[in-house]
Amino acid sequence: MLGIMQDWPLTVNKILEHANRINPTREIITRRVEGNIVRTTYADLFKQSKQVSNALVDGGIKLGDRVATLGWNSERHMASWYGAMGIGAVLHTINPRLHPEQIAWIANHAEDKVLIFDKTFLPIVEAIKDHLQTVETFVIYADADTMPENNLGAVPFDIWIDGRSTNVRWGDFPEDTACGLCYTSGTTGDPKGVLYSHRSNVLHTMITMQRDAIGMGANDSVLPVVPMFHANAWGLALSCPAVGSNMVMPGAQMDGASIYELLDTEKVTITAAVPTVWLMLLNHLQENDLKLPHLEKVIIGGSAVPERILRAFEEDYEVDVVHAWGMTETSPLGTLGTLPPHMMDADIDTRMEQKLKQGRPPFGVELKIVNDEGEDLPNDGETSGRLVVRGAAIAAGYFKGVGGNVLDDNGFFDTGDVANIDEYGTMTITDRAKDVIKSGGEWISSIDIENIAVGHPKVANAAAIGIYHPKWDERPLLVVQPAPGETPSKEDVLAQLEGKIAKWWTPDDVVFVDEIPLGATGKINKLALRNQFKDYKLP
Ligand code: ADP
Repeated sequence: MLGIMQDWPLTVNKILEHANRINPTREIITRRVEGNIVRTTYADLFKQSKQVSNALVDGGIKLGDRVATLGWNSERHMASWYGAMGIGAVLHTINPRLHPEQIAWIANHAEDKVLIFDKTFLPIVEAIKDHLQTVETFVIYADADTMPENNLGAVPFDIWIDGRSTNVRWGDFPEDTACGLCYTSGTTGDPKGVLYSHRSNVLHTMITMQRDAIGMGANDSVLPVVPMFHANAWGLALSCPAVGSNMVMPGAQMDGASIYELLDTEKVTITAAVPTVWLMLLNHLQENDLKLPHLEKVIIGGSAVPERILRAFEEDYEVDVVHAWGMTETSPLGTLGTLPPHMMDADIDTRMEQKLKQGRPPFGVELKIVNDEGEDLPNDGETSGRLVVRGAAIAAGYFKGVGGNVLDDNGFFDTGDVANIDEYGTMTITDRAKDVIKSGGEWISSIDIENIAVGHPKVANAAAIGIYHPKWDERPLLVVQPAPGETPSKEDVLAQLEGKIAKWWTPDDVVFVDEIPLGATGKINKLALRNQFKDYKLP
């Protein structure tokens, strides 16, 4: 027997339609690449998005066609999203920090027909123009006055949509229609495209709105520092309009001073970014003796939160840190470190220890750990295994079948992460499967070593990698980037680790580098490091 309820397809246009009806005056505040601040509302965004739809339709874009962006977080970027998604085109966010060759490869693989981008990226687009096989229309986020000269025949975004009708049909397709496309950085092999559906995006939006997840409301002002091209700004471009939060968009300026200025003037209550951004902000706060009186919650993810950042926010600025884990394939939120009930009255050190873990899955995400044979492992907080995940907003494969079947017999996706899970469902990442250091048949967690090493005041960043060893197979080498103006010794760093890790985990050597290489989403590029040190001889 079927239920007798209405058919209301879960398509993302409904999110902006709701914002326009219920929270039309809530604002999107954007720092333009020119540096000035512009304020628009959800009512404006609704209108602009409809005009984008008509510009696309007039340009021949149809259901399923790919529309790409190379854009900072801005209200124009938001209008491109909703304008494309509303008519059933697929909005493809490209990460501009990738190598230009890789950007061209991705755009060709996706068969993007339109490319809309910020001025900042004009040199990249001009350089790869002759390699772009499918792009017919180039649009630059600019008006007539700010439009740069170019050899692409590009149109300024504001003129592209100006004067167009707002009359266009949205959501005229089934809810499992493709909606968004995002390629993973591809630290191994070619990049792989995750193809979100309208249904998965709407359900992910509902997941993020849970109070123990991000849980924003109409009264919040949310600053997504995390870019819209990094796993959909962790869903914020959809969940903020869904609830009617103000959005504060940093554009291209993500340094400590610029972010602080926005946090302060816009009275931001919730913000989100990877750890490196917060290091810059915290330095700026400390150097200028500033406070964060409005900020309530900071979501930190993408890589593990260092204890220094956690404690600074919690203890010095009284801001609630929510550590989050996820990946492009999980839309991306997988777990969040909101304190569970049994931890509420614990002492500060116990609470901080809990918050360094990656957290618990919200309703809608199923997690478990398995061994190499795919057998379930216990949630005892100690046993570690491969982390696998299942849910309505988790990838079932990659665009055009790249990578083949990625699900096990029970429909779980292998995250490539190694983790343990405790009896309350709190997950702790101990490594990425490909970064784990195998010594004498046992696993050493590179993440644990790194987290402790960066706790040393003279250390800016640290990475542990496995180096070939004739007896043990691999042994850890710790690569350290000293804090500005500091010259830590090997002994300083090893003393920091002593007593906090098993003795046999102690790195066989410590080397110092000017800069640890970061990948396109701001994480340590272990592949580059492993190449750099592939012939390194341990003492
Ligand atoms: P990429 O590998 O291309 O950077 P993602 O941006 O999707 O892809 O990154 C997903 C991976 O980032 C996860 O599988 C995990 O290894 C790592 N990660 C994300 N959040 C955390 C976290 N809070 N702690 C540790 N690792 C994390």
